[in-house]
Amino acid sequence: MILDLHLHTSWHSSDSNLSPLDLIQEARRLGLNGVVVTEHDYGWDRLRARELAEAHEFVFLRGMEVSTDLGHILVYGLEEYVSGIQRAEKLRQVVDDAGGIMIAAHPFRRAFTADFRHGKEPMPQNLIAAAQRPIFDLLDGIEVCNGGSADRENKLAMEVCAVRGLAATGGSDAHSELGIGCYATQFDDPIRTEADVIAAMKQRRCRAVVLQRTETGMYYESSAQAAKFQDLAGWPV
Ligand SMILES: [Zn+2]
Ligand SMILES: [Zn+2]
Repeated sequence: MILDLHLHTSWHSSDSNLSPLDLIQEARRLGLNGVVVTEHDYGWDRLRARELAEAHEFVFLRGMEVSTDLGHILVYGLEEYVSGIQRAEKLRQVVDDAGGIMIAAHPFRRAFTADFRHGKEPMPQNLIAAAQRPIFDLLDGIEVCNGGSADRENKLAMEVCAVRGLAATGGSDAHSELGIGCYATQFDDPIRTEADVIAAMKQRRCRAVVLQRTETGMYYESSAQAAKFQDLAGWPV
């Protein structure tokens, strides 16, 4: 199954103009098997999400994108925002108590510009230094394909993810219909609930995929990720 794990809707993200209904219709048309809405610092009401899922017979799940002192972190398994989780270490405790998981969202966005700062660190100079950034000690996985990031930034995330041996996910980070599903996550097992997502990530039974958009929908090609990123310069080790 292929799900887009990183999406913002107009219901709960002020920077999005994508309604949940349009999201479901477009995701279905494109051929995705499900979506996870990850609003900024807000967890969807469980019943509302379930109503939408049942009304449209589509896998519609909830996560959250938390803004922390170490950058944006995608969380799956947290019911609602908890005071203090803007500190990533506190977020880790809260997520552990809830049995959830934490994935770094677009960890190298703007990595090649002067304003790259997550926390107080400047841009690392090589792969090992990048992989040692404190945020990666707190994570279960890394979003290695993010629709709002440049190819080179995603490639850095892939390399660090491989060094750290974390789960690798993909998500469009779409805030409108444009871009839904450009990157997504392929799961080896059926996904029906947030618990299924969490279990699959813990077992590393998922991977980031690049999807190609056609007039009739999206299609998945197993070599697309390798082809897209192989010619980009990597980091010095
Ligand atoms: Zn973000
Ligand atoms: Zn986002």
